Amino acid sequence: MSGAALIDGKAFAAGLRDRIAAIVPGFVAAAGRQPGLAVVIVGEDPASQVYVRSKGKATEAAGMASFTHRLPAETSEGDLLALVRQLNADDAVDGILVQLPLPRHIDEQRVIATIDPDKDVDGFHVVNVGRLATGLPGFVPCTPLGCLMLLEDRLGDLTGLEAVVIGRSNIVGKPMAQLLLSRSCTVTVAHSRTRDLPELCRRADIVVAAVGRPEMVKAEWIKPGATVIDVGINRVDNGAGGTKLVGDVDFAGAGAVAGAITPVPGGVGPMTIAVLLRNTLVSAHRRAGLPAPAGL
Ligand code: NDP
Repeated sequence: MSGAALIDGKAFAAGLRDRIAAIVPGFVAAAGRQPGLAVVIVGEDPASQVYVRSKGKATEAAGMASFTHRLPAETSEGDLLALVRQLNADDAVDGILVQLPLPRHIDEQRVIATIDPDKDVDGFHVVNVGRLATGLPGFVPCTPLGCLMLLEDRLGDLTGLEAVVIGRSNIVGKPMAQLLLSRSCTVTVAHSRTRDLPELCRRADIVVAAVGRPEMVKAEWIKPGATVIDVGINRVDNGAGGTKLVGDVDFAGAGAVAGAITPVPGGVGPMTIAVLLRNTLVSAHRRAGLPAPAGL
């Protein structure tokens, strides 16, 4: 890679976490309690276990209370819903996150629908999806909000820019498109049925790739000077008997053409937990009747 500036999500996320940690003591003094995040995990999925451990550690490092509920894989849907309702009613809990995926016998949508929308710091509840779509204040999913923060930090005002979002999932692609639209970008959402994706991307000032296909986006797809945000996390063979992480973008190739690009790892990935803490702190302020914290 040469040419493109590196968008250092790891450094940006560390800065955001520091700002959060600096705000927490004032909240504790005003509200008489810590902001609290409850994380629920069902089963033993190793990747989910790692995520949940990191979330708990980051929550405590920010001076917030972390409540982790580890349930066995055979937990019934009814028992999980009962726990969610208990957390909804718990005043010490400002944010509730149920780690996905859930075991097959549990209906994810029913679980998300049971979370109090005002504690839904993941922004997955249909009420928050609707709030984002209609421009009302609510919770926005952490990964796309983190991408938006990186874009605005890099580019400032996004008004009028052409953005292509590759991927239309509920957790990344669709909310990303809504966020860019809310910033007055002209947004195209591409997916597996899109015709001539390379040509579409070549028009874009901003490309956000959230696909899950290693290094799919090539240098020739990128308009010179464009800003490229790579959400993909793919584990591939490293050619030396081990594995490595790569994104959805051919980093070396696209980085030679783009104006700025996020690396994988160290780009979007670290933003997700930092934004989760941010959403929890915002929720705590709202629930305590305090003004929204500045600078987040
Ligand atoms: P999904 O599998 O839910 O969605 C993938 C999207 O990519 C779908 O909309 C699909 O289209 C589209 N797609 C698949 N193949 C192509 C193709 N050949 N051309 C164009 N579009 C295609 O994935 P997620 O949105 O959950 O995640 C995307 C990536 O981001 C993954 O690598 C994931 O690991 C990563 N991720 C990273 C996070 C982080 O950094 N913290 C958080 C969340 C995700 P269609 O709808 O037509 O099937």
